[in-house]
Amino acid sequence: MEKQMLINRLKEVVGSDYVLHSDMDRTLYSYDASLMKGKPDVVVIPNSTEEVSKVVRLAYQEKIPVIGRGSGTNLSGGTVAVKGGIVIHFSRMKRILEIDLPNRTVTVEPGIITLDLQNLLLKQGFVYAPDPASQKVSTLGGNFGENSGGPHCLKYGVTTNHVLGAELVLYDGSVVWTGGKSQDNPGYDLTGLLVGSEGTLGIVTKIMLKLIPSPEAVKTMLAIYDSITDASNTVSAIIAEGIVPATLEMMDNLVLKAVEESVHAGYPVDAAAVLIIELDGMADGMDRQAEKIMEICRRYKVREIRLAKSDAERADLWAGRKGAFGAVSRLRPSYLVCDGTVPRTKLPEVLSQVLEVGKKYNLPIGNVFHAGDGNLHPLILFDERNQEELERVHKVAAEILKICTDAGGTISGEHGIGTEKLKEMSLIFSETDLDFMRQIKKAFDPYDLWNPGKVIPPI
Ligand SMILES: Cc1cc2nc3c(=O)[nH]c(=O)nc-3n(C[C@H](O)[C@H](O)[C@H](O)COP(=O)(O)OP(=O)(O)OC[C@H]3O[C@@H](n4cnc5c(N)ncnc54)[C@H](O)[C@@H]3O)c2cc1C
Repeated sequence: MEKQMLINRLKEVVGSDYVLHSDMDRTLYSYDASLMKGKPDVVVIPNSTEEVSKVVRLAYQEKIPVIGRGSGTNLSGGTVAVKGGIVIHFSRMKRILEIDLPNRTVTVEPGIITLDLQNLLLKQGFVYAPDPASQKVSTLGGNFGENSGGPHCLKYGVTTNHVLGAELVLYDGSVVWTGGKSQDNPGYDLTGLLVGSEGTLGIVTKIMLKLIPSPEAVKTMLAIYDSITDASNTVSAIIAEGIVPATLEMMDNLVLKAVEESVHAGYPVDAAAVLIIELDGMADGMDRQAEKIMEICRRYKVREIRLAKSDAERADLWAGRKGAFGAVSRLRPSYLVCDGTVPRTKLPEVLSQVLEVGKKYNLPIGNVFHAGDGNLHPLILFDERNQEELERVHKVAAEILKICTDAGGTISGEHGIGTEKLKEMSLIFSETDLDFMRQIKKAFDPYDLWNPGKVIPPI
């Protein structure tokens, strides 16, 4: 089908205002928060499952790739149209369809912003727990696609642990439901397979999520260290003691300085590292747990521990952490966020190896990460306009992921594979593993039209 005819047909489905195809539009949709670029042929903004289904059916008839897109904040090239095609942007499909408090579920459309949903639920005394630091702008569809984590996922688990079911548009435009409100659904766990599949197996148009009651009490501490190793050892020691805080986040000196200049959260700019430690749950016993944590911090030579005394102080501590990625962009024009996971006991040695790689390639690296999960996010700072630096930055990222896998870890904690880590898949999967994944992909997508070029490396 000619491009103009395709555009006309899409306009009939979603309305002319919701089909974008100028060069400017295509450029605006050609990137996400990774370093990848690729222009789609056309962008559609549907308003219902029915419209999505019709768009997908048309794409299937014409064998055109389809890429789902929330806010495009993913960090691995997941929404970049590397083979052109139709981007389906979910910004109009952001309704809350049902809040079922007795059954503790909420059903939403994929375009809803994560924090908007969380704020609304909080007013009713409930929490949707996964809280990516991008929650102000990320969507539930994107969280679903990436199986996102966040600071509170140490205690509560990542997105997949909170998704009960989904409405899925299949490759030919037909629509099915997976999962549901019961705890254990018969048949294959398709919902489990879909969460984190980065839009390569289908597109979800409704998502059913689990709710938990909001905690009775919260305590947030900032532990300040003169050595990264002491901070890292504190992390392992807290968990070994049988305490699982809601969060255990770490920031190193480079990040602390950048955050302080930008967010003014009250962080110490001369510290080697800080931990943000948050406890939540029943008020009863929380003081005892906090005391135990402080004792462990002291065991590892903490310089100072500050306890947030008010909601405002607590909000400041979090504003700094959640604004950290943005803040480092003050230091260099570009940064690449690496995302690897290691057993938390390996944090001290892995962090020092990461900094060594930075020195070897002469690129500054800052660290801000989910330390409790052993999920590192080295931020490699560079200038994207400098081709030679760009090449170096990719080498640094590849070496860091190798360090993580050598330490018994893996190549992603939460940011997915996208296009950025295709090569690294072979660090953790054999050819037989990858072939098995290719067979699954083929069953969901016989013509390789769902977000092609992502997750599974080509043969
Ligand atoms: C500053 C910053 C901080 C971040 N912090 C975190 C963090 O703490 N934890 C974390 O996990 N991530 C984090 N991220 C990464 C990113 O925000 C998450 O991956 C987020 O879930 C992406 O949401 P999105 O709406 O932007 O999705 P997009 O980037 O638009 O899409 C992500 C993936 O989901 C697919 N997708 C989108 N909608 C659908 C749908 N309806 N059906 C099927 N597939 C779909 C897309 O095709 C793509 O593969 C951060 C990013 C930034 C820029």
